[in-house]
Amino acid sequence: MTERAPYAASSAASRGRVHPEPAAAPRSEFQRDRDRIIHSTAFRRLEYKTQVFVNHEGDLFRTRLTHSLEVAQIGRTLARLLGLDEDLTEAIALAHDLGHTPFGHAGQDALNACMADFGGFEHNLQSLRVVDVLEERYAEFDGLNLSFETREGILKHCSPANAARLGEVGARFLSKRQPSLEAQIANLADEIAYNNHDVDDGLRSGLITLEQLMAVRIFARHHDAVRAAYPALAGRRVITETVRRIINTLVLDLYDTTRANIAAAGVASIDEVRAAPPLAAFSAEVLDEHRELKRFLHQNLYRHYKVARMSSKARRIISDLFEAFMGDARLLPPEHQMRESLEGARAVADYIAGMTDRYAMREHRRIFAVEEIAG
Ligand code: MG
Repeated sequence: MTERAPYAASSAASRGRVHPEPAAAPRSEFQRDRDRIIHSTAFRRLEYKTQVFVNHEGDLFRTRLTHSLEVAQIGRTLARLLGLDEDLTEAIALAHDLGHTPFGHAGQDALNACMADFGGFEHNLQSLRVVDVLEERYAEFDGLNLSFETREGILKHCSPANAARLGEVGARFLSKRQPSLEAQIANLADEIAYNNHDVDDGLRSGLITLEQLMAVRIFARHHDAVRAAYPALAGRRVITETVRRIINTLVLDLYDTTRANIAAAGVASIDEVRAAPPLAAFSAEVLDEHRELKRFLHQNLYRHYKVARMSSKARRIISDLFEAFMGDARLLPPEHQMRESLEGARAVADYIAGMTDRYAMREHRRIFAVEEIAG
């Protein structure tokens, strides 16, 4: 096993929590963060939230929960290879999508449009808001009171205006500094995971075909190698074996390139990592192939007419709900009305963002379906 690197995040040297707490021993601070994330309500809801496909469409598609577990798995592998803190990487990976709205990107875009006059809505910022404010589980504080390093990793991007009001955790966006390597790795593990599961789910759903994918270099290369090595192999196993090899290639390339970047930068502490340019990266060649795959998915899967129809319905559900709640706050469940300290629109956005796909559909029916007047 790789020894802990000097530039790894360290539980003992953590910048701490907003509300100071006794040490987590025998767990590390980052283990405690990871455990709190797993026990959160928002984490359990990931089971019924999706990225491309709507949750009830098929039992075999990824949900945000299985996606988050895949990101954590890839992240931990890389963290271990690089001597980073595995628990911190895992905590960031498991929390990175907690702020996602129902219905994936379509839901996020719709809620952002609804919130245009109220500061907008950004799922990444919402993930931080979930762990900082919205979870209600502990006697002493709102949110999960996670350590600085986990919060820093969750906040992947941020506008200067939002950064300015977030204090310490937003400061790096104003001073143009990087987060820990654990955060950089978790971020790229997310990209590896979703590109590859979208290939897998896209093929499974029939929305994209093998013939189309053969135009994508990284897929064609591995697919041909699998065919050559196993001429008798047929059906889905050719695809799963191909996807597995693509993931492996990406992970190993990310490892090699990041290790070389770390050596070239000569970083010897997490603060030097934060001051350096981004160190976790793919090689130029693999990045190019990875982007080609991403472009393919954008053009062929995310813009497929069947996906466009789902997205259009999703947008309608989100904007109908938003309008209804903004027009009459009495339609909101009491616990959401009671957030007096927050402005009304933000409370509505929090409520909608917290919904699972099926809950949002049900809530829409309860409010708008005239045949269900009992609500
Ligand atoms: Mg993700």
